[in-house]
Amino acid sequence: MLKRALEGVLTEQEASELYSAFDQIGDILIVRIPDSLLSKKKVIGETLLQSVHPARSVFYQATPVEGDFRTRNLEVIAGEDNTETEYKEYGCRFKVDVEKAFFSPRLSTERDRIAGLIQDGEVVINMFGGVGMFSIIAAKKKRCTVYNIDLNPYASKLCEENIRLNKKLKGTVISINGDAAQVVREQLQNMGDRTLMLLPERSDEFLDSAISATKSGGIIHYYSHQHADKRQDAAELSKQHYLQVTNVKSEIVGGRMVRAVGPHYYQTVVDAKITK
Ligand code: SAM
Repeated sequence: MLKRALEGVLTEQEASELYSAFDQIGDILIVRIPDSLLSKKKVIGETLLQSVHPARSVFYQATPVEGDFRTRNLEVIAGEDNTETEYKEYGCRFKVDVEKAFFSPRLSTERDRIAGLIQDGEVVINMFGGVGMFSIIAAKKKRCTVYNIDLNPYASKLCEENIRLNKKLKGTVISINGDAAQVVREQLQNMGDRTLMLLPERSDEFLDSAISATKSGGIIHYYSHQHADKRQDAAELSKQHYLQVTNVKSEIVGGRMVRAVGPHYYQTVVDAKITK
């Protein structure tokens, strides 16, 4: 779609150098542009602003997602320099800030999968909950209680706003700002029927906290990154990795390759039922 919109603006050779995907989040477009085309970023931005609807702003993603808060630096290349927008998914409304707090539209299938697994009455501990995407979609579908923890104050504040925006939830979402390990230790030990660990770079470091948060018989959704020659091997490799690093009796009840995050590099999830 990005390449098609730019036909006539870039040569065929240039178009083939452009990354084939861009993210549309509400009326914001985010593009990654290879160094060889950076001199044309303004014309790329203006063309996208005219040809994609709805579009209010086009940003060039200058850095990968990085740091504790998993955020990225964005530079406006067309339209308004405003990184806040509203995004809709599965009948829920979300206020997001695509620069100040982590947000990815590419996790929507996984959000739906998790909401489908949750049973009415469950307590869910979302250790790295961001602006509340997984938590609010779960509470829209199920009568559950979700603790949405995040270290980034902007993410926790947006989560509170998103709870207010979505009035017809079956369940309850509670936004807690702080370090997940500390919050679990002080408030949530053995409370979770289910614990989500969507900080794949640091899952091993937080696994003891996730185990501590989860009741015996509860489920941990352990996300990680795996190198694999073939995409179909990634889920199995992550299962083997989890079984090596966990120190609790675990039955693997599910899991999948969530998305590719680089060449031969995948984000994966293991669903582990633990017995303490
Ligand atoms: N689950 C959310 C989503 O899918 O939109 C966010 C996932 S994002 C990959 C990871 C989140 O973990 C970020 O919002 C970051 O601020 C948060 N984070 C990083 N370190 C943390 C910690 N020690 N305790 C709690 N949250 C943390």
